[in-house]
Amino acid sequence: MAAATQTPLKVLPATRPRHRERRRIHLFFFLVFCALPFFNVMRFDIPKQRFYFAGAEIWINEFAIIFFSLMFLMFVIVALSMIYGRVYCSYACPQMIFSETALAVEDHLRKWVTKKFIQWPAPRRQLLQLALTYLLIGAASVVLAFIFISYFVEPRDLLRRLAHLDLATAGGIAGAVTTLITFLDFAFVRQKFCTTLCPYGYLQGMLADKNTLLVQYRDPDHKCIECKKCVRICHMGIDIRNSPFQIECIHCGECIDACEEVMTRVKRPTVVEFSWGQEGPKLDAAAPESWWHRLGIRDAKRRIVLAVILCYASALAIALSTRDSVLVRINPVRATIYSISPTGAVENHFRITTSNRGQAGEFVVLGLDGLPGGHLDLPTNPIPVPAGETVVREFTVTVPAAAALGDVTHFHFTAETQPGQLRQTIDMTYLMPPKPRTKQ
Ligand code: SF4
Ligand code: SF4
Repeated sequence: MAAATQTPLKVLPATRPRHRERRRIHLFFFLVFCALPFFNVMRFDIPKQRFYFAGAEIWINEFAIIFFSLMFLMFVIVALSMIYGRVYCSYACPQMIFSETALAVEDHLRKWVTKKFIQWPAPRRQLLQLALTYLLIGAASVVLAFIFISYFVEPRDLLRRLAHLDLATAGGIAGAVTTLITFLDFAFVRQKFCTTLCPYGYLQGMLADKNTLLVQYRDPDHKCIECKKCVRICHMGIDIRNSPFQIECIHCGECIDACEEVMTRVKRPTVVEFSWGQEGPKLDAAAPESWWHRLGIRDAKRRIVLAVILCYASALAIALSTRDSVLVRINPVRATIYSISPTGAVENHFRITTSNRGQAGEFVVLGLDGLPGGHLDLPTNPIPVPAGETVVREFTVTVPAAAALGDVTHFHFTAETQPGQLRQTIDMTYLMPPKPRTKQ
């Protein structure tokens, strides 16, 4: 009857500072997760083939910006993992946030059903609790799947598909499949996903080194009272006392809370703590340290990684600030090198492609420079280019038969946007019929 003599510990103690802090940060990152696609902070629109980053609409052919954005994000992840360990898993990962929320919902429902229906037999109560849990997770899965797919399909378009219960188009089918996967994930898989399927957990283990922040058990004076509360509180199902390098450990610090609470009661120092590496000082060590050491920048490797991040951030800022919102390309249509009109004038044919990568409609005013007697024959000039669209037009440049031009004349097209006031000059050649050679 050992269980009867044990003092039961509270399942959810009142003093869990790291737990409370994590829940607040989870809420913050959940709002960030929802906001990113809706405000185009980060979104990859598959149907439109556009990448949205920090509010800018980047076209798939703007390789430099996409490259710098991805490298910047990758190095931020590398730096975070190297300095702070599994801080992403613990605080920001949607999988972890929703897995923990699903567990908490299930726990609350179990207590509520037990309290409200105490007179019911236990199997009936369990059935009701499971039905309510799956109902709530099912409803949440629709919302979460909607937010997730919004990263790849425009949210308003997606809402329209959802309202029509679209199960015929690729977007509708993707929505239904994602909802089902989300439901199965948060109803049954939860944290098991982190230790079996997620490659990021393994990657972070590889990036950690002797100065990485980790949660570890350090007990040189054998103060541990073997209460095992740190084990019971761990939702990843491990015992931190075995090793600080277990792949399941996400460095959430919940076991520190648990140990602190128990040890405070028995007036002993806590033996689970955050520290900078296995041998390094505690996170909140009293010894004076420089501010960059306290922030985790503890060696040259970290300084180099931060310098690389700064380089990519600068390159990205420059690429974004110097990009032209309206792109104009003009190519000669050389199917006919030149043609002669009934009046004897010479005609060269061209194709203009204008792409408006901005948020508002623009006009492109086309002009000629350096072609004496040249005349633009274009159906509309200025050319209207709606926001986010590409307009292609074919046109002719005519010069009179008597124009004093050589066989090949170099000239420029000028393209000015309105109201953007962006001026571009495009080099081109004009071809005339060969002049008859004079006999010597
Ligand atoms: S909570 Fe602390 S005292 Fe209790 S078993 Fe874990 S490490 Fe030991
Ligand atoms: S061992 Fe501690 S830090 Fe690691 S996952 Fe479990 S509770 Fe979190």
